Amino acid sequence: MHAGVIAVQGDVAEHAAAVERAAAAHDEPAEVVRVRDSGIVPDCDVLLMPGGESTTISRLIHQEGIAAEIREHVAAGKPVLATCAGLIVCSRDAKDDRVDPLGVVDVTVDRNAFGRQKDSFEADVPIAGLDEPFHAVFIRAPAIDAVGDGVETLATVDGRPVAVRDGPVVATAFHPELTHDSRIHDLAFFPDREVVA
Ligand code: GLN
Repeated sequence: MHAGVIAVQGDVAEHAAAVERAAAAHDEPAEVVRVRDSGIVPDCDVLLMPGGESTTISRLIHQEGIAAEIREHVAAGKPVLATCAGLIVCSRDAKDDRVDPLGVVDVTVDRNAFGRQKDSFEADVPIAGLDEPFHAVFIRAPAIDAVGDGVETLATVDGRPVAVRDGPVVATAFHPELTHDSRIHDLAFFPDREVVA
């Protein structure tokens, strides 16, 4: 499996390590490449869109010609896992002029919507398709406020969607790459295999 981590900004190293762990649990050889330029995404089987600063990530992926390649990857039905800022960048509308979203996940989002006192929090969140709750780490997380018809809501917190699937893209407001639990990666990349806790 060729896994591309979009590496213009954000928690790239954590994503690289997490996808390696997830692949190893399935005895799947993984080659992880960090994507900072155009021309790499077309060779990737799966992509990871890190958390970080969505305005910066958005600006750089468009500037480097990576944005169009991500859209083509999704149009070809190839998997993507997008977390936090990655979700914002993948959304249809981030309601912020500094983010030019890719529109590959049919949701609208509110950046930093969980409020100052909840800037960072952790919660055990039930996820559709998983037997046990997932320990979810939220860091200045976005809220999803509108979900398109074709989007499956996988999890909610306080009634708000925090994990969704839109075709080949799984997107979370939290950071599965920061825990050693590969079940969200399994949902994104190994949907037909037994979940490995
Ligand atoms: N608040 C950040 C943004 O709007 C996202 C935070 C994160 O990825 N942990 O880009």
